[in-house]
Amino acid sequence: MNNKILQGKTALITGGSRGIGRVIALKLAELGANIVVNYKSSANAAEEIVKNVESKGTKAIAAQGDVSSFTDAEKIIKTAVSEFGALDILVNNAGITADGLLMRMKEEDFDKVIEVNLKGAFNCIRHASKVMVKQRSGKIINISSVVGITGNAGQANYAAAKAGVIGLTKSAAKELASRGINVNAVAPGFIETDMTDTLSEKVREGALGSIPLKRFGKAEDVAEVVAFLSSDNSSYITGQVINVDGGMVI
Ligand code: NAD
Repeated sequence: MNNKILQGKTALITGGSRGIGRVIALKLAELGANIVVNYKSSANAAEEIVKNVESKGTKAIAAQGDVSSFTDAEKIIKTAVSEFGALDILVNNAGITADGLLMRMKEEDFDKVIEVNLKGAFNCIRHASKVMVKQRSGKIINISSVVGITGNAGQANYAAAKAGVIGLTKSAAKELASRGINVNAVAPGFIETDMTDTLSEKVREGALGSIPLKRFGKAEDVAEVVAFLSSDNSSYITGQVINVDGGMVI
């Protein structure tokens, strides 16, 4: 495989300043893409990624904005296009959790998880698709989760948002296919990041027991699939959900 398969492409990664998003940004840069790192509040972490990307020989900028805001999403996309003249790849990675049992879940915890994880993806697709339709090309990759497929006790808000992301992916794929735009979702299982570090040892052991490959995933496992979906090697794939979960959901 050509190791600069994304040469000259521009990729925006939402919530790209840490965790899975950070590793995706660095992977796409390694493959030659110019990178727009969106962050909500971690300016220093985003700038560190910009420097890291530049050391790989491609260009990068940090773009502040809260994806749950329609106007911020528009601003982020405009920043990307005014800097690089195009937007070829959108990775909707930004996400939060606010876990709790359904009967005790606060209304605001339900709303904020839907607003960031589901509406955030809609907001970015809504603005990016206008640019991509004009270009008649583009790749949109939405980071869902296996719990969007299976559901999960204690995560009704998060599972609903991630299931919504799958419906959004399939609908966008159908609407945008004729314009040369591929839209797919990646559904990670248990990936070791800040988001999962907070879980108790008991929960981690329980999760390991349900993974046939008997290990937790790494952000790199997700980034490899995102890289494939960002490239023309996957040009005949759209509307799909690819699990990266060690066989957790078969
Ligand atoms: P993380 O908490 O390390 O990273 C999430 C990123 O999103 C952070 O950079 C955060 O600042 C950013 N973010 C949050 N709200 C935002 C907003 N309103 N606007 C812009 N950015 C915002 O988590 P992670 O584990 O790297 O998760 C990345 C994605 O993968 C998320 O969508 C998550 O739901 C999904 N995911 C993670 C796992 C896992 O096991 N870690 C499993 C399945 C899915």
